[in-house]
Amino acid sequence: MANTLPLGRPRELPLLEIRKRVLFPGVLLRLQIGRAKSVKLVESIWDAQNRTFKKGSMIGVCTVQREADGSSASRKRQVGEAGEAEDEDPAEALEVLEVPEKDGPTVYRAGTVARVLQLSRVNSSDNQSFQFSLLVEGVARMRVNNLVSTQPFHVAQISWLADEGSVNDTEVRALAINVREIARNLLELQRKRNSPSGKKTKEVIENLERAAPGRLADLLSANMDADVEEKQSVLGELHLVPRLRRTLELLNRQVEVFKISDKIQSEVEGKLKSTQREYYLRQQLRAINDELGQMSGKGGPGAEKDEMELLEENLAKVDMPEEARLSADRELQRLKQMQPSQPEYSVIRTFLELMAELPWDKTTKDNLDVVNAREVLDADHHALDKVKKRIIEFLAVRSLKNDMKGPILCLAGPPGVGKTSLGKSVADALGRKFRRIALGGVRDEAEIRGHRRTYIGALPGNIVTTLKKAGTNNPVVLLDEIDKLGRDMRGDPASALLEVLDPEQNDSFVDHYLNVPFDLSKVMFIATANRLDTIPAPLLDRMEIIELPGYTMSEKHQIAVKHLVPKQMERHGIAGDHIEFTPSAVDIVIDSYTREAGVRNLDREIAALCRFAAVKVAESRDRVLHARLEEAREGSVAGGSLAHLHVAEVVDQDEAAAGRPIPSFPPGEEGDGLAADHEAKADGDEDEDDYESEIAQRTALPGVSTGMAWTQVGGEILFIEAWLHRGNGRVQLTGQLGKVMEESVRAALSFVRGHLNELNLNQIEGQFVDLQTAITKADLHVHFPAGGVPKDGPSAGVAVTAAILSALTGRCVRPDTACTGEITLRGLVLPVGGIKEKVLAAHRAGIKRIVLPKRNSKDVIEIPEEVRAELEIVHVDNILDAMAQLFEADQKVTVPSWIKEIDDDERKRKKASGRKDPIGQIPGDATGSGGEVPPHWSAAPRGNHDGDHDARNVRDLCGPILESSL
Ligand code: ADP
Repeated sequence: MANTLPLGRPRELPLLEIRKRVLFPGVLLRLQIGRAKSVKLVESIWDAQNRTFKKGSMIGVCTVQREADGSSASRKRQVGEAGEAEDEDPAEALEVLEVPEKDGPTVYRAGTVARVLQLSRVNSSDNQSFQFSLLVEGVARMRVNNLVSTQPFHVAQISWLADEGSVNDTEVRALAINVREIARNLLELQRKRNSPSGKKTKEVIENLERAAPGRLADLLSANMDADVEEKQSVLGELHLVPRLRRTLELLNRQVEVFKISDKIQSEVEGKLKSTQREYYLRQQLRAINDELGQMSGKGGPGAEKDEMELLEENLAKVDMPEEARLSADRELQRLKQMQPSQPEYSVIRTFLELMAELPWDKTTKDNLDVVNAREVLDADHHALDKVKKRIIEFLAVRSLKNDMKGPILCLAGPPGVGKTSLGKSVADALGRKFRRIALGGVRDEAEIRGHRRTYIGALPGNIVTTLKKAGTNNPVVLLDEIDKLGRDMRGDPASALLEVLDPEQNDSFVDHYLNVPFDLSKVMFIATANRLDTIPAPLLDRMEIIELPGYTMSEKHQIAVKHLVPKQMERHGIAGDHIEFTPSAVDIVIDSYTREAGVRNLDREIAALCRFAAVKVAESRDRVLHARLEEAREGSVAGGSLAHLHVAEVVDQDEAAAGRPIPSFPPGEEGDGLAADHEAKADGDEDEDDYESEIAQRTALPGVSTGMAWTQVGGEILFIEAWLHRGNGRVQLTGQLGKVMEESVRAALSFVRGHLNELNLNQIEGQFVDLQTAITKADLHVHFPAGGVPKDGPSAGVAVTAAILSALTGRCVRPDTACTGEITLRGLVLPVGGIKEKVLAAHRAGIKRIVLPKRNSKDVIEIPEEVRAELEIVHVDNILDAMAQLFEADQKVTVPSWIKEIDDDERKRKKASGRKDPIGQIPGDATGSGGEVPPHWSAAPRGNHDGDHDARNVRDLCGPILESSL
């Protein structure tokens, strides 16, 4: 049923062609009129007098489908074209009319009759022509049948069209509900996007609610973002159902578009935000880099890029093995794709810088001239023939065989014997770079082998770092203090070193940080150690041990004269004119002021003397002083410093030339803080050193023996003191003894208790002394002096036995003799370690006789000839022999007072108990000799006394002491 049409429907109307827009009935449209033909049309309805339009003006409005030149006048969607009405033939709705004139466009036949609501003239932009602004309202649908005239404007013959279909139709209703629903959604979405005032949206929704279905479709289609053809297809649709359907489709599409567009919007926004943030940070970073670059005078903008190029170039320059190259390339690619702000960036960059810096292909040429090497080694170090010989051998073999693997030497010995400096000389002799790795206190495996790069703050291990610093792949690397490697829960660095030091494996050493193998086989490793027993066996096994036991006096003298004195003089800027070290002065410094196996203290003392001379030179202004250092006599001792002691004369050379000596420095002037305790010596003519007098002093009383100890700083002599006094058999040990040493003291005591009779010591002053009882009734205190230093080990057994026996019998141990050796309860003397160091130390201390276990005789060969020549070395395999060597047979002794007291007590006790002394014989009767018997040190045949032990005890109990005290 047709809807009502407006009254007075003209059949012919001026036709206004509009472009890119579609006018719908019930919709207002403002049009700008500029085209000549359209202007003419508008002028026909223009009331020039009233400057408005003629009342009741109506025009037909059609949309141009195609211009005369064939270009599309309407917007056409590219993708997902809508407008394919399923049940309607769009061709009918989109039917067109070609305007039959030159330049005439093609218009859609479906158009809208419009009422003019407003017309105004506006200035055109170029001020030449006039333009109109026209507001029209769609009144009804129309169809353009044909054009009745084309001049001066188009006039068309039209048909007025009414809507088809009923508003009460169920489908129409249903569609209308849907359309409204979706329209509401759409408006809501739109409101959110553009956030217009909620009130306006509400009004529109209210309008939609009120509009009839046909109008609803028109209103929505007119306002929708659809192209002309789509809108035109709605306009051309007279029936309500297909029109509503079409509208619904367009609405749905619009909602979808909005949703997708919202999604895209939020994604883009997020991206924008992060890009902006990154941009902002990058700008800041650049500003910081610029600033830093300016501060350090390099860099500047673009420095980042340059560095990357530089890195790439550096990597390309290095000739690295395949595996390393692959890894470097891979990481470089990753780095290039990264932002500098990413945390991993700097990790990878540092790694690549290391890869570029490592000496993969840089090898120094070895100087294989054996003669030169010998010269260099001799120039730097006196003696040390063993090591020098080994280096020369290496060079000789190396000159014959080019690909020889570097030996792994371990220089073992006390401090100051030149282990470290020798490493440097070896490098000099070979013409290689030298680097030192301090292993002392290294407890973490990662320090050797590095951390994996995944750890925060990961670093390569110190092997790789050292090679980087060396800059060559064949340096001499000194692994200093390998015996001081620690271990804890972070792994065992010693086992990491195993790989480094294994010539069979170290050509593919993998540092965790690098994670690619590095060839260490060309590196010459030299390890140093003070002791070998703390080095794990597998590690020790991989190294060639060269022992440097310490220097003899004459070696030290040579080292001082040839090396240390010139070195220190040069360091202190002192010329030969200023100071003179006489040979005797050097000897005195060595003898009296240094107790060491090496020469480090000696070096220090010489430096102190040089400082002393430097002060004198500085004070003397113009005068050239000559300090002659030798043993001082008078006038220079009181200051108590080493310098005082040895400055014999200081001569102003000019004065000296004039024959006037200048006096020595007044006492107290040159205190340089050196320890000194030497007045006694300075006064004396005899050249005995401090040690000898100390030994004499300390062993002058019974109960002291001289032992020899091995320490980390070489050997040392040790005075062991035993003291017996009345008590009840308790044993006290002092001097920070370790468990082994404590046990060895107890073993010594047990031996003495058990073998007293065999020792045949119970003849004192021609009397029998009941030592057996005495010792059970006495408290024993054994003390090892230097109680601040912990001591351990079994090797003091012989010395402790001697000290106890000495205390027991009142006989002194020979002061010129020192001993070492472990004992067993059966009286055997077992071999001990560190003989070389011990004997050298004893020799330094002025000992003349050494008692050693027989099985250590092989070690004696290693003691320098000159030392052996000055010593009497006695070998023993049992304690009785050892004691025979340690005590002088014809010593005059008296019965110790504490034994007398014990005897007294014993006598009183027995008297009180009413027992008669069972035996009251004179001593001679006891031994059968009848007179004074010198102690028989050598062992009585074992087992002989076992049977009569008790009888002797009883007899000894009531022996000569009882007699004499009665
Ligand atoms: P170590 O590493 O064994 O503790 P160093 O190598 O540090 O000892 O040596 C200490 C000092 O003694 C160095 O100045 C060194 O030159 C010097 N020195 C040690 N032995 C000799 C020697 N045989 N000849 C010359 N100088 C020596």
